[in-house]
Amino acid sequence: MMSPETRRFYTAYRLQTSVIPVYLLTALFFMLGWYFNPFIPGRAGTFLIDGVVLFVGISRLASLAGFLLSQVPRSIVEPDLQQAQKLAAALEPFDEGAIVSLVEIGKVPFLAAGGLTPTIWISSHSLARLGAEDLSCLMRHEGEHLRKGCSLAWWDFLWLLAWPLAWLFSSHAPMYAASAVMFAWAWLRLQGWLRWRDELRADRAAADACGRDNYARAMVRHLAEFETVPSSPLRRSRLAALGLSPAEIDGVLQD
Ligand SMILES: [Zn+2]
Repeated sequence: MMSPETRRFYTAYRLQTSVIPVYLLTALFFMLGWYFNPFIPGRAGTFLIDGVVLFVGISRLASLAGFLLSQVPRSIVEPDLQQAQKLAAALEPFDEGAIVSLVEIGKVPFLAAGGLTPTIWISSHSLARLGAEDLSCLMRHEGEHLRKGCSLAWWDFLWLLAWPLAWLFSSHAPMYAASAVMFAWAWLRLQGWLRWRDELRADRAAADACGRDNYARAMVRHLAEFETVPSSPLRRSRLAALGLSPAEIDGVLQD
């Protein structure tokens, strides 16, 4: 079950890496769309072109900036000999060429991939808690995230909606402001769905590399600390997506 410390950490982390950057960006784009809009007579239009250039990838840059400002990169510690050996053993079966950064963030489970250079981030809590084999399987999942990288996708163009919405609500400023809030909310929902899809893809790749049952057990141990209700819906849905039957899921969860 999720500890209060873990809940506090992830509430702050989500605010820093997605909620605040998305609302700030939405405010910026909707302001640009209001004052520099080629569809509305009398307002400057050249900003449409500038806006197209500006928005490209900016939401991803904002989430990266949020991550860099979060507690995680500030908490990097040098692994001691025992930790270094455990990490080396977990990475040994596959050489991803990724940097692994150990972070000291208290008793909080953390395992993620990304950053400016391809890096796998792991908390000292997760490193201590997971066995070498589980760790190796979970590293493959993170390695898969790194392989996919982050590139521009068609939904990044959704930011251009600020311009037609400003035209539509050009004489109803409060409606336009409301549409900005709606946009930010919908964008966060979309990002959540995309992250979920990435997780399932990384799960499948790791299961192929590590063996489905081995990976399922490793994932269940890690995700147990993220469950908020006793019925384990998070672990159940991830295991079901991996192709396990309900009976197999019960078996893995009872281990
Ligand atoms: Zn993942």
